[in-house]
Amino acid sequence: MQLGLTGFPLTHSLSPRIHQAALDCCALSGSYTLYPVEPQDTQTLQALLARLRAGEIDGLNVTIPHKQAVLPLVDELTPAAQAIGAVNTVYVNEGRLIGANTDAPGFLSDLKCFFTQSNLQPGRDLQVLVLGAGGAARAVVYALLKEGWQVLLAARRAEQALALAQDLRGIGLPVKAIALTAQTLAPNLEELALIVNTTPLGMAPQVERCPWPDELAFPSLAAVYDLIYQPRETLLMRRARAAGLPAESGLGMLLEQAALSFELWTGRKVPLDVLRNALEEA
Ligand code: NAP
Repeated sequence: MQLGLTGFPLTHSLSPRIHQAALDCCALSGSYTLYPVEPQDTQTLQALLARLRAGEIDGLNVTIPHKQAVLPLVDELTPAAQAIGAVNTVYVNEGRLIGANTDAPGFLSDLKCFFTQSNLQPGRDLQVLVLGAGGAARAVVYALLKEGWQVLLAARRAEQALALAQDLRGIGLPVKAIALTAQTLAPNLEELALIVNTTPLGMAPQVERCPWPDELAFPSLAAVYDLIYQPRETLLMRRARAAGLPAESGLGMLLEQAALSFELWTGRKVPLDVLRNALEEA
């Protein structure tokens, strides 16, 4: 099995460790290779996909900055990848390249684990605030809407949040969008059951940054999910826990989306603990 990841830069990717553990666990020989492709280099990206079509590579993950660039280069998109407007997994089916998105179901699976482990039962209204409106937010918001959550989307550039909300409204999924400031958030907090951070604020090496405004108290009944997985506890999570709220990092999502991609390529399910242990040992 020849698997791999394209994006740029890829120097800190944890995916090779995760997928090597998956291959080993299933006793499949093969490797997971990094294919760095610079932004705007569509030719190299196309050539890489041609190798997939030719059977030289069996499966490919796609990350920043190519998750959108890959859309017109595959033969078919899964309905979720189409609605989200981003592909993180490419696989081959009967000679056709299929673009899929495992971030959305990966996020949802881990969110469900988080709620179960924390003994949380969100109220009937299922109100969630999503911070940031970039690529990951698209998958997260889509997943939440499909599960019946009412989504409030907040981004530092309100126009970015509005654009995402408009795209989703276009396919019948309603989202409210606002600017990410203490003033605009304050009147919207009372009924929140969940806050999801999709901004990179707090990610290593800038671990002292936090997307939640300093002057704003957390809503008392919300849980906090931070997509960041390096470090395992971000400043946002630390502040939320100090305020008595349950908080979780994006490590579980990273493992879930990897396991789902691996299943699309190989048809094999890998226990998440195997993948988690591989990261911990490293
Ligand atoms: P992205 O497309 O660049 O989007 C980032 C979003 O955060 C944008 O809305 C961006 O706004 C906003 N943002 C950036 N800096 C900000 C700041 N200083 N203040 C307020 N907002 C800011 O990135 P992405 O692909 O969505 O990834 C976002 C994060 O999610 C990363 O930390 C990534 O590692 C994590 N992630 C985790 C998983 C997982 O499996 N756990 C999967 C995917 C992503 P502007 O456009 O204005 O900069």
